[in-house]
Amino acid sequence: MGTRVWLKMEALQPSGSFKCRGVGEACRYYVMQGATELVASSGGNAGLAVAYAGRQLGVPVTVVVPTTTSQRAIDLIILEGAKVLVQGERWNESHKVALSLAEQGGAYIHPFDDPHLWQGHASMIDEIYQSDIKPDLVVLSVGGGGLLCGAIEGLRRNGGTDVTVWAIETVGTASLNTALAVDRLTGLDHIDSVATSLGALCVAEQAFKLSREHDVKSKLVTDKQAIAACDRFLDEQRMLVEPACGASLAALYDCNESLANYNDVVVIVCGGVGTTRKQLNDWLTKS
Ligand SMILES: *Cc1c(COP(=O)(O)O)cnc(C)c1O
Repeated sequence: MGTRVWLKMEALQPSGSFKCRGVGEACRYYVMQGATELVASSGGNAGLAVAYAGRQLGVPVTVVVPTTTSQRAIDLIILEGAKVLVQGERWNESHKVALSLAEQGGAYIHPFDDPHLWQGHASMIDEIYQSDIKPDLVVLSVGGGGLLCGAIEGLRRNGGTDVTVWAIETVGTASLNTALAVDRLTGLDHIDSVATSLGALCVAEQAFKLSREHDVKSKLVTDKQAIAACDRFLDEQRMLVEPACGASLAALYDCNESLANYNDVVVIVCGGVGTTRKQLNDWLTKS
C-alpha cells in the first residue's frame, strides 16, 4: 500500500478485546467511589470485561444478559467468577434490570456511553505515542462509539488533533454512518449483521459530536468482507477475531485507494471472543 501499517493488538487483552481498557478504568473509578458491586448488561465482550475487572478488584459482578445470549458466552463470564442473570428478550430489557440492580450500592458499567470508559480506551493511543509512533491514520470499528470517543480523546491529549480516523461499520450496523448522513443523531430500526459487537441501534451522543469535530471518515464494509478479513487475519497473524474486528481489517485489506500519503497507519485490532473457528468456517461456506 506504499505505507507502514501497524496493528494495535487489543485482541491480546486478558478479556480478549479492547473493552478491558475502558471497562477496567470505569470499574476502578466506581469502586474507588464506594461501589460494592458491579453490574453489566452485555453477554458480549463488555460483560466479560466487567467480570474480569471485578475479579481483579475483588468486587462481585452480576451480568444481566438477554435470552438470546449463547451458552458459550454465559460460560465465559461464569469462568471469570461473575454471576449471570438471564432476563429480558432483548438488550434493552436486560439493561433496565441491570440498572435497577445497580441502585442498591452497585455501579452500572455501560458498554460504550461513559466518560470514564473513554478515558480508559484512550490509553491505547498513549501507548502508541509512547512507542514513538506518530500515526497519521487510525482505523477502528464503531458499535456504540465508545472506542471512537476514547481514540479521539487519546489523539487529542497526544497532540494528534489532525490525525484522520476511519470509523468502520458493517452495512447492517451502520448507526454512525446513518446519523452522519442525515446530520442528526438518529437510530436504526434493527441490526442485521454477523458483526454483533457493532450492533448498537444508536451511537453515543459524544461519538456523533466528535465525529463532526474531528477528521472522521465513516466507511462501510459488507459482512462478507468482514468475514473474509477474519479468515485472512487468522492465516497471516494466527489470531481469531470477531467480524466486528474483521470490519476494520477489511477496510485496509480491500482498500483500493493509495495510502502513500500516509506514513504510519494504525489499525486497532479490537479482537472479541464471540467467534469460534467453526462459526467462522460456517460463515465462510455460506458467504
Ligand atoms: C465493543 C466492541 C466494538 C465496538 O466498540 P464501541 O465502543 O461499542 O464502538 C468493536 N469490536 C469489538 C470486538 C467489541 O467488543
